Amino acid sequence: MRLILLGPPGVGKGTQAERIVNAFSVPHISTGDILREAVKNETPTGLKAKAYMDKGELVPDMIVIDLVKERLDDGDCTDGFLLDGFPRTVAQAEALDSVLSEMNSPIDSVIQLYADEDEIVKRLTGRRVCSICGKAYHVMFLKPKIENICDDDKGALIQRKDDNEETVRNRLNVYETKTKELIDYYTDKDVLISVDAGGAIDSISSEIINKLKSLDAVQ
Ligand code: AMP
Repeated sequence: MRLILLGPPGVGKGTQAERIVNAFSVPHISTGDILREAVKNETPTGLKAKAYMDKGELVPDMIVIDLVKERLDDGDCTDGFLLDGFPRTVAQAEALDSVLSEMNSPIDSVIQLYADEDEIVKRLTGRRVCSICGKAYHVMFLKPKIENICDDDKGALIQRKDDNEETVRNRLNVYETKTKELIDYYTDKDVLISVDAGGAIDSISSEIINKLKSLDAVQ
């Protein structure tokens, strides 16, 4: 399965990605995670990307496209992958199409998650992530077993620098102006599945996984 998760920041892409990759045994490729790791390690890419990320702006296409091309070359992507947070512009989508057509392996499905904007702001500003593994929690909706401690590795939970209200509004604005047009792009290619991400996490993942399984059965 070659899959893309598309949707505004805070709609729950990371949480759903974890469940989808477990169900289909494909690697999870999150450009946000790759970039945050580069920033943490102060690599040349990380140093270039940091200022854009802190403001909630998109990192330039060339940088992100190169990162994804390199990652797709890894052996674990041969039988499929889930892209999360990429593509975010038409230029990125076109670059991805050309890489995949060289490999003769087009995208199977694009899962579009949508939710109400106020709900998204609430989710993002209340989000906390593990400082070690990056797992996401929420101060109200998805609490860890012990306050401020990750259930999996006991890392301290922190707030992402770009999860404050001002940056969140900017990230949503960037999504509206630069990324949302990808819905039309993939509708035209007849690969779009839309899922309402406003409900409970478990029922959203069941809906996504069932839809993907029924598509897989048809192919
Ligand atoms: P995310 O974790 O997906 O919300 O991404 C966090 C930040 O990383 C975004 O606000 C952007 O600054 C940057 N970023 C992640 N993916 C991309 C992408 N495909 N294109 C440009 N910037 C990206």
